[in-house]
Amino acid sequence: MKLYPLFADLSRRAVLVVGGGPVAERKIAALLGAQAQVTVNAPTLTPQLQRWTTEGRIAHRPDAFQESWLDRVWLVVAATSDIELNRLIATFAELRRIFVNVVDDAVLSSFHVPAVVDRSPLIIAISSGGEAPMLARLLRERLETLLDHSLGALATLAARLRKRIRVRHPDMAARRRFYESLFAGPVASLLRQGRPDAARQTAEQALASSPVASAGSVVLVGAGPGDPGLLTLRALRALNEADVILHDRLVSAEVLDLARRDAERIEVGKQAGYHHTTQDGIHALLLRHAQAGRRVVRLKGGDPFVFGRGGEELEFLREQGIPYEVVPGITAAVACAAYAGVPLTHRDHAQSVRFVTAHCQSSRDTLDWTALAQERQTLAVYMGVAELGGLRARLIEHGRAPSTPFALIENGSRPDQRVITGTLANLAERAAFHAVHSPALLILGEVAALATSLAWFGQPPLGATVHAIRTLPAGHPIASDVLAAVHRA
Ligand code: SAH
Repeated sequence: MKLYPLFADLSRRAVLVVGGGPVAERKIAALLGAQAQVTVNAPTLTPQLQRWTTEGRIAHRPDAFQESWLDRVWLVVAATSDIELNRLIATFAELRRIFVNVVDDAVLSSFHVPAVVDRSPLIIAISSGGEAPMLARLLRERLETLLDHSLGALATLAARLRKRIRVRHPDMAARRRFYESLFAGPVASLLRQGRPDAARQTAEQALASSPVASAGSVVLVGAGPGDPGLLTLRALRALNEADVILHDRLVSAEVLDLARRDAERIEVGKQAGYHHTTQDGIHALLLRHAQAGRRVVRLKGGDPFVFGRGGEELEFLREQGIPYEVVPGITAAVACAAYAGVPLTHRDHAQSVRFVTAHCQSSRDTLDWTALAQERQTLAVYMGVAELGGLRARLIEHGRAPSTPFALIENGSRPDQRVITGTLANLAERAAFHAVHSPALLILGEVAALATSLAWFGQPPLGATVHAIRTLPAGHPIASDVLAAVHRA
């Protein structure tokens, strides 16, 4: 190791920055964050540096750099575009034994400025010793996504309780267990929920009670439609912290791959046709694992509150007194629309959108078909592949035009996505012709006509006219069998 990492307290300490451009501005912003007393030396300043000077937050010396200024500063930053001047500053600093950073020059610098993830008072600094700054930045971005912003509040809370925790748990191992439960359990979760007072109370209770009860919890997480890029940062963090993951069959393997390696994965999937774990069975599993003190992630396709029975699971957890959180996911309708190039609303074509399911007789009988058959609205139909004939009959019976366009999206957002287009009149036949399977989502309404012209992901829609396909830009990845299928259809 050539560099010795250290965190410097610069509050109320004088620092000189030579240079008045955007790089100097960035350095000064960070120095001001650390409450340093900054003097900037440059003939001209960026507008922001000028503002800070006017506001009295920094001092400005427009005259030529003078060696004697270094006598009263703790650090100096050389951020000019003049290589000779930078070198001179570095030499003078060296003679006076003060640390110097020369921007973009690892050799002349006696201190480096790391890439930083700031969860103050917790700070993570990353350095590659100037060898691979881009890699350090990339790592910083990764950590930035992994670490919740409430971590700072957690560190502050832990600092406040630190003395009392030491007295309460003089044994090192017990103390470590207490901290672990503080950092991973309900206290951390309350802080994420923006409830600092409840978090403090819970921490106080944990400190008062003995022995440390490790309370389990459940996070209900929406996994989105399949493309792991559509996970939220919250979902990713929950997957990273999970001890157990109870997931639906619909959740893609790519998403599960992102979970903590040693987390136990249990499929509680349900698929049209057969249910291999009943809802009561899922409730029992949630309860068992949470009561054993584990952090349980209940991972569902799309969004947990859209046709996901998330509500029932929360009702059950509430009855049982198990703490929970909910992380929303991108629901199939929203994802399929985006990945098929079908805007769900459009000023010219649709003023409203309805999410409906029509997978069984009782759900069909309770729907308001007159309302569903209205013009200029979009229907996003979940779980409907098997019932397209019945759906069509009811909609036409209630006045929807047979010429209403549809887009049927199978495996939306996944590499094997297919989009079938047509009109309400030939909906069931076109789906049967292309042997559409679950999961598939139907978008019915005027907007669906745009699927042909706005498609951007995967194969072009099946049902596009041969003409539309011929006018695709050169090099578009359209296979000849797609063309053949279009001819047949
Ligand atoms: N909670 C989920 C929906 C569960 S119901 C959500 O918010 O998306 C299951 C239905 O969702 C499927 O039958 C299908 O209609 C739809 N669906 C889920 N993922 C899909 C995908 N990747 N492509 C197309 N439809 C999907």
